Amino acid sequence: MNHKYDVVIVGAGLAGLRAAIELGEDTSVAVLSKVFATRSHSGAAQGGIGAALGNEEEDSWKWHMFDTVKGSDYLGDQDAIEILAQDASRCIYELEHMGVPFNRTPDGKIAQRAFGGHTSNFGKAAIKRACYAADRTGRVILDTLWEKCLQRGINFYNEYQLMSLIAHDGRCCGLVAYELATGKLHTFHTKAVLLATGGYGKVYKTTSNAFASTGDGLAIAFRAGAPLEDMEFVQFHPTGIYKLGILISEAARGEGGILRNEEGERFMERYAPVIKDLAPRDMVSRCILEEIRAGRGVGGKDYVHLDLTHLGKEVLDTKLAEIAGFARTYAGVDPAKEPIPVQPTCHYMMGGIASDSDGRVITNSEGTPFAGLYAAGECACVSVHGANRLGCNSLLDVLVFGRRAGREMRRFIHTIGFPELPANPEEPVNHEINSLMNSTGSEKSGPIRTELQEVMMDRVSVFRHKDGLLQALEAVRNLKQRYKNIAIQDKGNCFNRDLLDAIELGYMLDLAEVITLGALAREESRGAHCREDFPDRNDNKWLVHTMFRHSADKDPEIFFKPVTITTFQPEERKY
Ligand SMILES: Cc1cc2nc3c(=O)[nH]c(=O)nc-3n(C[C@H](O)[C@H](O)[C@H](O)COP(=O)(O)OP(=O)(O)OC[C@H]3O[C@@H](n4cnc5c(N)ncnc54)[C@H](O)[C@@H]3O)c2cc1C
Repeated sequence: MNHKYDVVIVGAGLAGLRAAIELGEDTSVAVLSKVFATRSHSGAAQGGIGAALGNEEEDSWKWHMFDTVKGSDYLGDQDAIEILAQDASRCIYELEHMGVPFNRTPDGKIAQRAFGGHTSNFGKAAIKRACYAADRTGRVILDTLWEKCLQRGINFYNEYQLMSLIAHDGRCCGLVAYELATGKLHTFHTKAVLLATGGYGKVYKTTSNAFASTGDGLAIAFRAGAPLEDMEFVQFHPTGIYKLGILISEAARGEGGILRNEEGERFMERYAPVIKDLAPRDMVSRCILEEIRAGRGVGGKDYVHLDLTHLGKEVLDTKLAEIAGFARTYAGVDPAKEPIPVQPTCHYMMGGIASDSDGRVITNSEGTPFAGLYAAGECACVSVHGANRLGCNSLLDVLVFGRRAGREMRRFIHTIGFPELPANPEEPVNHEINSLMNSTGSEKSGPIRTELQEVMMDRVSVFRHKDGLLQALEAVRNLKQRYKNIAIQDKGNCFNRDLLDAIELGYMLDLAEVITLGALAREESRGAHCREDFPDRNDNKWLVHTMFRHSADKDPEIFFKPVTITTFQPEERKY
């Protein structure tokens, strides 16, 4: 079946919806989502969205910019970070005017709370910069933008899964999607495609991410020739519920929660004397694992305690109700009375599809655009988060750059006509599905996925070492070989998860290989990338973005892109 739209957006999280709104009523827009739009992972965001409104204490976007640059361990591009920090207040007021029910101060202003790595006066003390709606901030923003899209008559294709991009003469001219309810393929002919497909935490065994976070958009863009940037930077959030990885938001520490080891010691005081438990996530995750290695995990096990008992029932019930419920349901503890057992969980991907600050996907280190192809949100690397993202900066990133991508696509589509579609655009996808469905191979996707997630967790997570990385690379490449021999048991057309799990596993294998190659190449420690065999940051050699290009018959090819430094020169990163 064929469809024709000026713009097709893949992904109905906050990045996709914000871009759709920007395209307005005079552009024909379709939004595709493999899950029902309002089930996108953005709806799980708990803690808040950062902006220097200065409602609780004096603040400045320049301090926010500084914190983001320092948080990124100086790898973030400062021109893009300046846009992020400077546009943040406008973004919050826009949400407020659309109807987002933010928490309020007693005098009616938007309330703000502390979050990791956010400081006043260029690093002097922790500051309240996160705007929030209890601990359901993503949920309320997603619902508000969804309603706005419905008002604007945006066309939604829910439960349609992107399978491939159609590119012709160096230009993206459409895509092929699979309709989950019927198994039918659909061709979308368009002037511009925006990928807003979110993260890929599912590459790891323990993650806070949703089941849909399998990195489809990245892998599909990569296979279509778009480079991936800074993929070795994977964020582990310090406080996932022990064994499950379900997130206990940093807002818990922003409201005064304290991490304690076996001895009950507030150990973050030793590692980050100024901002303690509110140090950035990469640091806190490492500190927790250092405590566990030193035998100070609770009960000798591999977790520590997050103590909220002193916050009082009112704060727990009103500002942290969701995570208090998670603690009761999933950890079996009442956070008003007992500490919550926590350990680091894979949370956020700093790397992504290389793109500029107007959402254009770029094809090389000079920034030449891939005509007609755009990316925004967690799947993109602009790069504002560099080697480590600060809490509350992702919701901001997806909205600020989602809007800018929408604005740029709107300009672009009015300058050109519809590109020509090549003949039989669905053929390669049909072929892929048929070969999987008819395969008599002996492998199943479940065991391969489990092995992939385990090896990534063991060898390519918070601490990394050349030997472990080489073992991981070999394991991932073996799994890629086994993947070729995969077979599908479900031969049906209706919600065939067996088939889709297998296809998504193919994406995750590609991405795991690139993450591992990046981690091997980068012989230094920076932000979330900690090489035990190269413990220092090396600005002489590694103050660069890594880029990987796909090759059909060879290993992915690495090249580099310079970091944009405008205001803040790299310094030692102390908190
Ligand atoms: C538990 C949790 C809590 C968080 N809390 C915060 C917070 O408090 N503050 C903050 O700043 N950040 C937070 N983050 C991070 C932030 O929420 C995400 O980075 C952000 O919401 C990503 O938005 P997105 O629009 O890029 O993608 P998502 O919201 O992940 O949406 C991805 C969309 O792509 C679609 N999609 C994917 N693949 C396909 C395909 N093949 N075909 C069709 N559609 C596809 C999905 O259906 C979905 O609609 C949190 C993240 C998690 C996991």
